[in-house]
Amino acid sequence: MEIEDALRRAQEAAAPEVGRGQLATYIPSLANVDPHQFGMAIASVDGEVHVIGDADVPFSVQSISKVFTLALVVAAEGEAIWKRVGREPSGSPFNSLLQLDQEAGRPRNPFINAGALVVTDRLQSLSGDASGTLRDLMRRESGRSSVESDPEVARSELEAGHRTYAVAHLLASYGNLESTVDEVIDQYVAQCALSMSCRELALAGLFLARDGVLSDGSQLLSPRETKRVNAVMLTCGTYDSAGEFAYRVGVPAKSGVGGGILAVIPDRGVACVWSPALGPSGSSAAGLAALDAFTTYSDWTVF
Ligand code: GLN
Repeated sequence: MEIEDALRRAQEAAAPEVGRGQLATYIPSLANVDPHQFGMAIASVDGEVHVIGDADVPFSVQSISKVFTLALVVAAEGEAIWKRVGREPSGSPFNSLLQLDQEAGRPRNPFINAGALVVTDRLQSLSGDASGTLRDLMRRESGRSSVESDPEVARSELEAGHRTYAVAHLLASYGNLESTVDEVIDQYVAQCALSMSCRELALAGLFLARDGVLSDGSQLLSPRETKRVNAVMLTCGTYDSAGEFAYRVGVPAKSGVGGGILAVIPDRGVACVWSPALGPSGSSAAGLAALDAFTTYSDWTVF
């Protein structure tokens, strides 16, 4: 089926789910988003983009940022980060404290909040400006020089961030942070608060479908590193529903509580879908339905 037709099928499949589920009300400013929006963009490895619905409306990328910070750290220093973070699915909620304590401050994987804080901490040590380094990568790859972090979303997450502080303090108590808790959390909420559309995110993620090659032809990750980042996305990118997600969609993906999901189909391209209402594990319910249909009706799949 042509991409345009598969996109339409995806939108139809998602329609009953749009607006159903919960907004991420624990970040107060995300509770104000209209839950009835839906957009999807498909970017192919040659840079061609197809869109449907609200694909040009910016939303809060939240945990989708965690793939990009991991890529930047791996690009800078290869395998070293795995001394501080694991790469097993957690089977626990993304903001869980229990497992982190039981496992002596070594987060299960880089895509739950604890692991992402360690990755951001490392990027901060390496670059001196973790969220700015990420923002610049997003600007270059999406082609939109005005990509910015939304200060209102960042402030809102800080104010309501008791659990994030608790996770960061636990990491620090086990000696798994290099910067101060406040410094790491400031960078982390700024990275999560980046505001981007489906079209921009799909373009920004294309290097993951292109063996690590950026839009200017330079190599961010080696093909081997890219394969590995995608493997961790497949097993850990959608938290405690990664198994169900792999069953239904079957490609590496990363979700965020802003309602976005970025899915990588190696050598083909990237799909980004957004609809703000979330299912029980914190991934967009309509986004899951859309990607399920898209990978079913197009030949964009890895299995
Ligand atoms: N900023 C959010 C948090 O720390 C990101 C969570 C997510 O998107 N799953 O809770």
